[in-house]
Amino acid sequence: MRSLVNLVLRFRFGGIVFAAAALAIAISTAGQAETTAPIDWDKLNSEALGYFRDFAKFDTTNPPSNTAVAIDYLKKLLDHEGIATETFESKPGMVSLVAKIPGPAGVKPMLLMSHADVVPAVGANWTHPPFGADLSDGYVWARGAIDDKAHGIMALMTMIALKRGNVPLRRGIELMVNPDEEAGGANGAEWMVKTHWDAIDPAFAFNEGGGGAPDWLGLRGTSFQIAVSEKRVMWLHLTLRGKGGHGSVPKPDNPNLVLVNALHRLLENQPPIRITPIIAQAMDTIAPLEPFPASFELSHLELSEMNKLAIAGVLSPYNIQALLRDTISLTMLNAGVKVNVVPTVAEASLDCRLLPGTDADAFLKRMRDLLGDERFTIDYLQHPDEAPPSPSSGEAWDAIKRAVEKNFKGALVVPWMTTGGTDSRFLRERGVPSYGFVPTILASGEIARVHGDDERLSVENLNRGIRTTYDLAIDLCAAKD
Ligand SMILES: [Zn+2]
Repeated sequence: MRSLVNLVLRFRFGGIVFAAAALAIAISTAGQAETTAPIDWDKLNSEALGYFRDFAKFDTTNPPSNTAVAIDYLKKLLDHEGIATETFESKPGMVSLVAKIPGPAGVKPMLLMSHADVVPAVGANWTHPPFGADLSDGYVWARGAIDDKAHGIMALMTMIALKRGNVPLRRGIELMVNPDEEAGGANGAEWMVKTHWDAIDPAFAFNEGGGGAPDWLGLRGTSFQIAVSEKRVMWLHLTLRGKGGHGSVPKPDNPNLVLVNALHRLLENQPPIRITPIIAQAMDTIAPLEPFPASFELSHLELSEMNKLAIAGVLSPYNIQALLRDTISLTMLNAGVKVNVVPTVAEASLDCRLLPGTDADAFLKRMRDLLGDERFTIDYLQHPDEAPPSPSSGEAWDAIKRAVEKNFKGALVVPWMTTGGTDSRFLRERGVPSYGFVPTILASGEIARVHGDDERLSVENLNRGIRTTYDLAIDLCAAKD
């Protein structure tokens, strides 16, 4: 800086040169200062709150997952900031948005992904209208507040702050907002990955699927469950055809009877417990912090007695148990046309979720053995994906830990798996490490509102989510001195 001033002063070509020198100093100082000058977070947060409420007011219910107007809203905000955007329409109204702040050529960017569609809301059950985005009691009340619109705003504000700050980057950053996540993503993230990979192609991705909890599994203090994997969706349809007849004459080959008995055998014999490496690592992480005897049980899960005690105790919540085995849920039954007619066909649909590493053919064979009747036909409604878990070590993982430590001091970071599917699996299938990490702290009562009534997110959570996402981006993308 000083040498530039000296250089200009030495020429002394009058006022014009001095003006140019002053300008050069101003530009140079600004360029230098912008990377270090503190952001006015209060101002940015209040701006974000307005954007969040606007975004949440768009009715993007899926079906039909029409996100066009909501995406256009985000696009205009980004365009206004001079951030490059592109939109992609898979089906009429189903629009994906990609925005980029480029980094050096040859370095793959960091991706912040979210979805704009939401599940339906029954307005009559809500305290505030689901698409009113009312601000009340420190919360924004809206369908999609948690899942997943505030999360999208955290990415938006991160991009805006980086761009305004003109932060020098060693890695580019991009945002993608998709439709159709709530219906499986075939016309959203999956479609983007399959047909527009070149438009994203990230080094790693951050998505919904994990976050902070105040008292998870009996831990004292905040912990973050970061999703590195998810159960693999395997939907099956069973059909049994047999002899019909008069309802007044019970027969053992009544298709309904055969189906019910077979399903009973199947459901009473859920697949055995299998501790995956992710769960083992998570339990190793939390065991020392658990009160006794959970601490001992969790650190000795390889012993079947400890296993049993833990499952009866600290691991007893059903959503935790579902992560310890492949699961089979009976979700649909269909048979019969009239009360006095034995039907000729009985059907059932099964929502099975496989752990990473489970062999689908072996799972199916075990199922056939338990059904015990060769007349069953089993059709796939959805094949399980082969997405590998993302590493719970390395550059992106370490950056998550640092961002959590900075913004949620003392919080524990635990690698985790989700029972439900997210768009992350499409990225993982392409070999991109993808993390479920929404930097908010949600008590179980708040989580229960997701897909339920009175979904809401506190302004405090929105603000710390923005700050943490920004810090994560700076850690992974900003040029180092
Ligand atoms: Zn979601």
